[in-house]
Amino acid sequence: MRVVVLEYHDVVEPHAFEASGFSGASANSYKVTIDAFRAHLASVAAAGCPVLNDVRGLPNEAPRAVPVLFSFDDGGSSSLRSAELLEARGWRGHYFIATSCIGTPGFLTAAELRALHGRGHVVGSHSHSHPLQMGRMPPAIVHDEWARSVAILEDVLGAPADVASVPGGYYRPFLAEAASACGVRWLLSSEPVRRVHRVADAYVLGRYTIRRADRAAHVRSLTASPSLARALQWTMWNAKKVAKRVGGDAYLRLRAAIFRETSYPAGDRRPRG
Ligand SMILES: [Zn+2]
Repeated sequence: MRVVVLEYHDVVEPHAFEASGFSGASANSYKVTIDAFRAHLASVAAAGCPVLNDVRGLPNEAPRAVPVLFSFDDGGSSSLRSAELLEARGWRGHYFIATSCIGTPGFLTAAELRALHGRGHVVGSHSHSHPLQMGRMPPAIVHDEWARSVAILEDVLGAPADVASVPGGYYRPFLAEAASACGVRWLLSSEPVRRVHRVADAYVLGRYTIRRADRAAHVRSLTASPSLARALQWTMWNAKKVAKRVGGDAYLRLRAAIFRETSYPAGDRRPRG
């Protein structure tokens, strides 16, 4: 099974980058404008790729071409806007919620999550407190992050929350094992790969991160086959992964310095999208 999963965050009005989701230069670098997002959707439509509206349909479908899936991390209040734009094309998205943020300024409320779910979008967990390096946390805390988040979402939605995405981008297989133990059957990482694999009872999918500066041609290239854009993202990702593994907190401080932010403790949910 292969699928191109696009990893978005907030879709905002120009000059309103602080209005939705996490704040700060780093988080804002992952937000795209409404006009840019419209152009991205048009490019995917023009490429003729099938769009997978619900990841849970994947094993039962045998699409002729590798499908594209839209995902949105964090649960910022702009999610309703991106959902509308997808719906206008008959598509649906996957929205991943850091449950400690529900109802706080800039984030969706419980009622808005129910509305999103009722409109056919997939609403899943993005952990509870949005740790930046979940893959470095003790397994018991990781389990608690998934368990709390899944329980809160199931209470809000009145439906199973069996889809999740990893916050912070630092994936390790034990995160999927813990998520699986909490009832997650579909886990999206940020590893830039198309091939779906299995860990315990969960399918694990990679994703291709979309940034503020990415143009429609880049998004279209991510869906093409072969794809220079995918190969480049994979190469960059693996270089960064080595830096994260070797540097740990030093990597985070360097990243914060690049974005001119003060340093912050691991687990602080502000800066990363
Ligand atoms: Zn996030």
